[in-house]
Order: sequence, then C-alpha cells, then structure tokens
Amino acid sequence: EVRVRFAPSPTGPLHIGGVRTALYNYLFAKKMGGKMLLRIEDTDQNRFVPGAENYIFESLAWCGIQLDESPLTGGPHAPYRQSERKPMYMQYAMQLVEAGHAYYAFDTAEELEAMRERLKAAKVATPQYNAITRNSMKNSLTLPKDEVQQRLESGEPYVIRLKVPHKEEVRLKDLIRGWVVVHSSAIDDKVLMKSDGMPTYHLANIVDDHLMEITHVIRGEEWLPSAPLHVLLYRYFGWESTMPEFAHLPLLLKPDGNGKLSKRDGDKLGFPVFPLQWFDPFTNEKSSGYRESGYLPEAFVNFLAFLGWNPGTQQELFTMDELIEAFTIDRIGKSGTRFDINKARWFNEQYLRAKPDEELAQYLITALEEHHIECSLEKATKISGVMKERVTFPQDFWREASYFFVAPEHYNEQVAGKKWNSSAVTVFEDFKNQLDSITDFTADNVKALLTQVLEQQGKKIGQVMQALRLAITGLEAGPDLMAIIEVIGPKETASRIEAAIA
Ligand code: GLU
Repeated sequence: EVRVRFAPSPTGPLHIGGVRTALYNYLFAKKMGGKMLLRIEDTDQNRFVPGAENYIFESLAWCGIQLDESPLTGGPHAPYRQSERKPMYMQYAMQLVEAGHAYYAFDTAEELEAMRERLKAAKVATPQYNAITRNSMKNSLTLPKDEVQQRLESGEPYVIRLKVPHKEEVRLKDLIRGWVVVHSSAIDDKVLMKSDGMPTYHLANIVDDHLMEITHVIRGEEWLPSAPLHVLLYRYFGWESTMPEFAHLPLLLKPDGNGKLSKRDGDKLGFPVFPLQWFDPFTNEKSSGYRESGYLPEAFVNFLAFLGWNPGTQQELFTMDELIEAFTIDRIGKSGTRFDINKARWFNEQYLRAKPDEELAQYLITALEEHHIECSLEKATKISGVMKERVTFPQDFWREASYFFVAPEHYNEQVAGKKWNSSAVTVFEDFKNQLDSITDFTADNVKALLTQVLEQQGKKIGQVMQALRLAITGLEAGPDLMAIIEVIGPKETASRIEAAIA
C-alpha cells in the first residue's frame, strides 16, 4: 500500500510551495489508492510559532485535502506530533552509537566556532564537522573511553552526531531527477540528538518515516541536499530494504524567474503567497491569503496543480477527482516553475463563471445586505448573470454592479461633454418618454424602442450608445446596456436619463 506524508514544521504560516507539496502528496496517494498522513515536525522548540499548526490544518481543509491520519484524526501510528514522540527517539540514536555509526560530541559553542575560524583561515570554503575535522574535536571517537563515560555521567552537555564515512559515493534514485550522486566528503557529521534531548529534523524524520511505513517521500527541492544523509541513516539503521522512494519537487520561482519565491515576497509582489490570511503573533503584521482575496478553493487547487505538473493534454480545468485521475509523478517537471498570478486569476474567473447564476447571486446579496439595499433573489440572479463575464472575484459583483442599485452621482465631465451632444439629447428625450409604453419590459423590447426612435430622428445607434451608457451607469464600458436597462426598469431608467441631461 502506498503511504505518503506531509511533514511541515509549524514555524510560521504554510507557504504556497508547502501547500503544493501537500497537494501532490494527496493526489499521488489517492491515485494509488493509498493513504496520506500529516505529521507535525515540531522538534525545534526555538522556532515554535503559536497558531502555525492550526493554520496548517485549516489550509489543508480549505483546499479539500483530506488526511487519513493526523494529529486531529489520530491513526495507527499516533501520536503524529514529534514533540509528543520525543521519548522514542533516543533509543534510535543509541542504536547508531552502539553500532559505531554515531558518536557523542562534547564540543562547546566556542570550540566549534574556533574550529570554523581555523578552517576559514586555511581557506576551506565550507567548514564542516566531518571525517577530517572530527579528529581534532572533543568526542567519543577521540577521547578515552572512561573520560567519555565520566563526562556523560557528570551530566556534561553533549550531542550525538552521525559518523559519515570519509570517502564514499552516496547514491539515490529520485523519481523526478533520476540518479543523484553525492560524495560523502560533502556531507557533514550531522547532529542527530541535540543537547536538550530533542532529536534533530534528520533523525526524527527518518525514524518516523520508517515507523509510519512511508513508501514515498514527496517534498520540496530544498530537501534534496539532505537526501544522501537520509540514505545513510536508512542504511545504518538496517532499513534499506524498506527505504521510501524520493521525489523532490521543482522550486517555485518569482514571476520574473529570478530566484525562489519566498515567504517574504508575498505582498511585496502584489499577490498572496499564503493560502489563508495570517497575522504574525509576534509583530501583528498581516499577510494576505488566497481565501480572503476571493479565490475559490477549487480554482486555487487547480492553479497549484499546474505549478510544476501538467497532464500532457490541452485540458486545463480539473476538479480534484479529475486531478487525482490524471496525476502521475513522471509528469512533474524538473526545472523551476515561474509563479504567474494572472494564471491564478484566470482559473478563478473560469470557476466563477461555471457557477449557476443563482449561486453567484448570493455574493451580491451578501454585499447588498451590508449596504442595506433590498433586492429580490430573482433580480440579483439576473444581475449576476449579466456581470459574470466581467468578474474575477466574488467581491467584484458588488463593485462592478453597484450602478444597478445606485444612480451615478457624477459622470466623467470630459466624456460627458462630448457625448451629450444635441443629437443624443433629443434621442434621450423621446426614448425616456416612451419607456412606459413597453408592455413587456425586456432587453429586446427596449432595444426595439431605441431603434424606432433612432429611425424616426434619422440617427445612427453609434451616435448615442456610449452617451446612454454613461447616463445610466456613469461608466464608459460594461455589459450589454439593454440587459442593464431591463434590470433597472423603466422608471429608474427614465429618472437617470433626466438627471443626466438636466
Ligand atoms: N519538516 C520538514 C519541512 O518543514 C519536512 C521535510 C520533509 O518532507 O522531509 O519541510
């Protein structure tokens, strides 16, 4: 059975890249008839941010990503929060120490700093605690056995480090990038257990993936450099035969393609980088979210799916079920994907337009209630139908349609001056005086009346149309004017024309 996990650290709001990772995990799990679990990786207590965990739950729920196992739903491998699993990690670290694959290190912060300075002075580009340098440091490989014992017993702080081999090629086959080969000299002796008794990400992540029987690790490319280390851990634990397969997702790039899209880019670039609005609990700073900006979750998910994956066909609109059906890892691209907010807007427009007018009417009714304007469902439905080709977000219905309810208070003088020429005014007058005579007040009949007046006066429609629109809506462009007049009705139309030419 396929089992995947989404394993965020609650160090802040989930970034759009994180939601994409969760989505791809979900699509893959469901496609394979497998399970997806959520594991909260909160071993770094210094980076704990209140509210971040709830934000993760809420974001996934909003996207429609349903978890089979999680801290909220529980499951056969509970607990799903690493802080609650703390007591079980030490034994695994000890297993490696006993097998000679890990060791105690007693170096103080000052000693580590001195080592780095020494290496920098010797022009070593990336100073590391590794097969070469560990020999000059204070650890259980260099100190006499009884001294190690005595230091441990006296309660001296220590960490447990992985003993990375000196000269070895570590290989792994990534499902997206193919073979990845890293020389062990490029990997340092990573800390597995910290001096506060907490495991590091690397240890906890591998132990939990193993215990939770994860078959596929699908995560961001930023974790690729850690993957060889993870392979070593699987090997030293003796878990190689059940090691999960890896798929590292391409980076999300800034719109100009220059570098990785970061959490800080958000409102600077003029669009959200978070699924939901977020208030930083420390600074109280607000970052906008897709949900609050008016994106529909189905549109957001569809957009996300295409940020790094494509179905290989022309089809762009996919429901979640269709995405599950179409999704395969081999159609995930290798190179970074540029972020294009216009594409997100486009998806939102498509999903809005596909909704029945009656459902769209609810957006308008909500806004009308806020403005204390009464409107029947029938009228709101009609207006929504007229407007839907022009909106990107639900809130646009009110912004774009307020003239249906409120007469224009001013007209662009420059435009009005030119448009209200005498030929328009005489047409306006005949037209408004006869509006009452239309028995069935439909767009077609309104149009017929206007045509008739124009014919009588020997004028062309082009001479009055824009002026009429300006008089009735106060705007220079909009949807079909006859449809607007139908909704506004004869009395209000007449009074707006009067006001315009007064
Ligand atoms: N806790 C890591 C993160 O925050 C998980 C990385 C992984 O999936 O292995 O992204």
